[in-house]
Amino acid sequence: MGDAHSIPPAGGSDSNASGSMAPSGRQLVHAGVLADANGAHVPGALLLEGGRIIAAGDPSSIGPVGDDVALLDHREHLVCPPFVNAHVHLDLSDLEAPAEMGSFQAWLWGVLRHRKAQEEAGAVERAVEIGAKASLAGGCPFVADICGSDRALEALYRTGLGGLGCLEVIGHGDRTASGLERIRDLAARDCGAGRIMPGISPHAPYSTGAELYDAASASGRQVVTHLAESRAEVEWCLRGAGAFAAMLEQSGYDPDQVTPPGRHPIDSVLPLMPGGRGVVVHLNYAEPRHLELLADHGVTVVYCPRASRYLGHPDESAPPHAWRAMLEHGIPVALGTDGRPCLPGPGVRGRRLSVLDDALALCALEGARLEEWLPMATVHGARALGLDPDEVTLAPGPKSGLLSIPLSDIEAGLPDPEGGVVWLLRDLDRAPAWVSGA
Ligand SMILES: [Zn+2]
Repeated sequence: MGDAHSIPPAGGSDSNASGSMAPSGRQLVHAGVLADANGAHVPGALLLEGGRIIAAGDPSSIGPVGDDVALLDHREHLVCPPFVNAHVHLDLSDLEAPAEMGSFQAWLWGVLRHRKAQEEAGAVERAVEIGAKASLAGGCPFVADICGSDRALEALYRTGLGGLGCLEVIGHGDRTASGLERIRDLAARDCGAGRIMPGISPHAPYSTGAELYDAASASGRQVVTHLAESRAEVEWCLRGAGAFAAMLEQSGYDPDQVTPPGRHPIDSVLPLMPGGRGVVVHLNYAEPRHLELLADHGVTVVYCPRASRYLGHPDESAPPHAWRAMLEHGIPVALGTDGRPCLPGPGVRGRRLSVLDDALALCALEGARLEEWLPMATVHGARALGLDPDEVTLAPGPKSGLLSIPLSDIEAGLPDPEGGVVWLLRDLDRAPAWVSGA
């Protein structure tokens, strides 16, 4: 991101800053900072026509536009493409996170009880609708949603969101039959030109056998799995012991029927994932030797910083999450929120479901810079969803929308080595506004 300078003064003489449509149908957006995954312009300008970007860059690069263009004044804002939420469970959007995280088992049973209660007519559909509204309020028109049921996937199709709807499959041994049938059904479906593409999500290595991973991989769809999320998962995969061994037994599995892989979950699952179409979520317990493997395999990693933190991962005996090292190894790392039950917090943030808040957490805790988090919130997420990355850049062409974030919520930090400025999010009490679209 090269062209960072100081934030320009606001004000000026724009005569038509109302955002109303000009006779030409064209709009010229003046931005304090105009940024996408490819770089930033300070200040920047962007010419729009009917939801298409005609040109974007330094104000001088736009050229004369004539009197019949509407001027939109965002000189006190960062203007950027909309975000991709690369991991979410919209069908749990009606379940609040307990303020205090007790044991993982107690939390999980709470989620399972809630799923049971959702069997009542309309409950899943309501939850998905709540989640979709909160996603748009958070500037995320694209999601990779894990659908716990066919009802949830059907409800997702109706929301108007774009991206990926992954039907979740689960089971070991002789409990894989229904999962295999769902995968066959989904692989054969005509996807048409809908905004949501169907994908498949084998849940996690401790809950789901290799047969389902293989079938998902062979389906030709995007494949998303939770991976190396917890210490307990690593423990079960290596030795067949710990909390998940007990949970599998409680679920009625005969221990002889479920064979743990005897290897770290990343080592056992990665060979089962399709390279470019594979998405691995969490990786809170990746080891340094895994960086090379992940880069070679071509999967996209999704990191959910707030959810991982809430659930206590990585724990104090493990190093911090390796997202930065992954990026340095050329591994695309996208941001996800995970489900609402992992995201405590009242107020505006409670009403929006956005990776912008995960970017904010990374800025506050680890000094993540705009050039780091913006690709994670846009183009890397698009890769996870199987979307054209230019859906979420400022390259010319049709777009789903543009966002505007007040610069008062963004801090200009230390100069970067190239002489620009490091932009940090600091507080976001207001939701991002839509300059156009959504
Ligand atoms: Zn999840």
